[in-house]
Parts: sequence; C-alpha cells; structure tokens
Amino acid sequence: MVSNLNKTKSKNPTIPITELERSAFCQEETELESKPLFEEKKSKVRWQKIPIEYMRLTPDELDTRIAHSKNILKEKLIILGHHYQRDQIIKYTDFQGDSFKLAQYAASLSKKEYIIFCGVHFMAETADILSEEHQKVILPNLTAGCSMADMAITEDVLDCWEDLNDILDHNKITPITYMNSTAAIKAICGENQGLVCTSSNANKAMQWAFSKREKILFIPDQHLGINTGKALGMKPDDMIIWDPFKELGGNTINSIEKAKLILWKGHCSVHTRFNYDQIKNAREKFKNINIIVHPECTAEVVEHADFVGSTEYIIKTINEGKPGSVWGVGTEINLVNRIAKQHPDKTIFCLDSLVCPCSTMYRIHPAYLCWVLESIEKGNIINQIKVDKNIIHNSKIALNRMLKLN
Ligand code: SF4
Repeated sequence: MVSNLNKTKSKNPTIPITELERSAFCQEETELESKPLFEEKKSKVRWQKIPIEYMRLTPDELDTRIAHSKNILKEKLIILGHHYQRDQIIKYTDFQGDSFKLAQYAASLSKKEYIIFCGVHFMAETADILSEEHQKVILPNLTAGCSMADMAITEDVLDCWEDLNDILDHNKITPITYMNSTAAIKAICGENQGLVCTSSNANKAMQWAFSKREKILFIPDQHLGINTGKALGMKPDDMIIWDPFKELGGNTINSIEKAKLILWKGHCSVHTRFNYDQIKNAREKFKNINIIVHPECTAEVVEHADFVGSTEYIIKTINEGKPGSVWGVGTEINLVNRIAKQHPDKTIFCLDSLVCPCSTMYRIHPAYLCWVLESIEKGNIINQIKVDKNIIHNSKIALNRMLKLN
C-alpha cells in the first residue's frame, strides 16, 4: 500500500525554446559557410546581444582579430571545440572532442587561466565542475543551450524522484543522468547514489546501477536509455517513459512497480531526424554501404544500422574504414562533412539529405568568439560559466562514480 503519495500534477506541456528553434539553420546546400553575424541574425532564433561593431565583421576581419587576440593571450588561453561546431570555429580551436573528452582535457590544463568552450551550456558547466578554482570557463554565446538538456528541468526531475520514492522503497532505484544534462541534474544523481554516463559508457553505468539496486531512472534521453536497455537484454515491458507533464509521468503505480528502467521523455532534436526510410534509400543506392549512427537515434534507426556508437566511436570507425568504403552516417552534419573532407578516398554522407546543423551549437559564431577574446584582453571577463559550489560538490560525486567505471 502506498502512503503519502504526492503525485506529480498534470502540467501544461512546455516545449523548450531550443527545441522550437531546432530547424532554424536547415538548408539545401551542403556547405555551411559562415556569414557576417548581422546576416545570420536574420534566422529567427534567440541570440545573445553583442556590441554592434562585431555584427558586421567579415570572415577575413574576424580571422585577423581572433588570431591577434590568441597571440596576445596564448600562455593563458585554451580554445576547445566540440565536434559539432562549424568549420569556421573549429579552425580556431586548440583541441577538439566530444563533451566529456573536452571537459577532461580542460581539467588537465591547470596552467591555462581561460578555457573558451566552443560548445553548448551543459558542456561548459562540466568543464567548470572539473576545472580548478582559478580557471575561468567561458561560453562565447550564452544562448548556446541544448534542447535535450532543456527537457529535464530541476523541479520536474525532483517531482519525479519524490513520486518514485513514494511508490517504491527508497533503496530500489538509482538515478543515472546522461552527460547532456544540467549540472543541477548531475548533482541530484550524485546526492542519491547515482551517476553520470556518456554515450560510450551508458551500458557499463546501467550494469553498475543494476548491481546496486533493482531499478533505474534514466535522464534525459529516452532513446539512449531504450537502446542501452535493449542491448542489456531488456524487453519493451521492462521499460516505461516518464512524461513530466503527466500525472505519475503518464504511468500507473502498477507499471512503475513492474518497470526496471524508467526513461525520462527527452530527446535530441538532431539525432531524432534520422529514420528507417533514409537507411532503406541509402542501402538501395549503395550495395555495400555501412550505416553508422549515434545511440541518441531512435531504436528503429539503431536496429537497422551496422554500427552504433558515440561521436568519438563514429570518427574512429570511419577513419579505420577501407579506402573505397561507403558510409551513411546518422549524426550532426558539421561533423559528417568534416569527416568526408578528411577522407576523399571514401564515400561519406549524412543520411538526412537536408543540411540541419545542431541549431544551438551553431550559435557559436566567430563574432562571439572574437568578442569574448577581445574582452579578456581588456580585462573584462564576459560569459563566464560558474556553477554553484553545492552543485559542484554533488555533481562531482556523480561524475567520479562514472570515472571509476572505466
Ligand atoms: S546535438 Fe542534440 S544533444 Fe547535442 S547539443 Fe545539439 S541538441 Fe543537444
């Protein structure tokens, strides 16, 4: 019998603005060339306000000014770039990687006072959590969020956690959050004997959690959760989706008691663009094609792919592919185009024929990079990402539990 059940009230669904703006930069051409910022600002998305002089700088002017700033600040500065950044940003970066590789790298460079993180907000937060007190992590454009991370807001996750613990015995469930979540969600996991995972260790994280307790709450990517659950042999009945806008997440007490894996209803707006028809068409066109996709894609896409793995895995697998091999790739277009350029001896293309960059990553325009660098030169630190001390403490616990898995 359940007592004191404080059921999550039905709420009016609110779609994160980052999700509404997800197709803002989709286009037909294959080249994503940067234009002066005032031109790009015509896309109807939120942009952080920036001094007007930066708006009209041409790519050549930005090149000169960024190179000048980098040269002045070189001993104190490191510029990190996520693989999904546009080429016009990647060319200024000192190191590239996926979110965790970048955060770890940042933490290993204690001599660098300024870490410019060309990625999205949750990544800069992770870099701040892992870096030392004297280091400053800077996100060039504060509106570079992540639609998936925005789908799990702290209050909703706390409501869910309270409901689950009212229904189940407190020692039955472990929270796991994907790296793509806010620092506050990571802290909730750290505080409640849970951990963080990445797309390359979600499997290990779930096995660890099941060795401790019988159920998992997995936040915020339902697809990574389903794909990992299936890889561990779970059946559809073992998994339920928690919709934060519905009472008890849209579930019954009975279904919650039966479920092994409770999956937050979040998704990546980039990786859910891929579908089975795209794979079918690619296979019809190229007999010996290799389909490689990210585990944030839907279960149907993952089921029909030949290779599934993290961004770093996708890069490595294609790099190791034989000359002449053909690759249909289900991940972000800036990365796919870059890998294709690096391997002219292979046929590499994005499964989605429309060119749709991650619209939040794309907000890091070279004008913003120039603005934050020149501000540092003048002694004015803008766009610093500073995570609250209590949140740092608990989120570090969750991150360290993940690190111990490897
Ligand atoms: S690709 Fe998806 S998960 Fe990654 S930052 Fe963009 S919206 Fe977020």
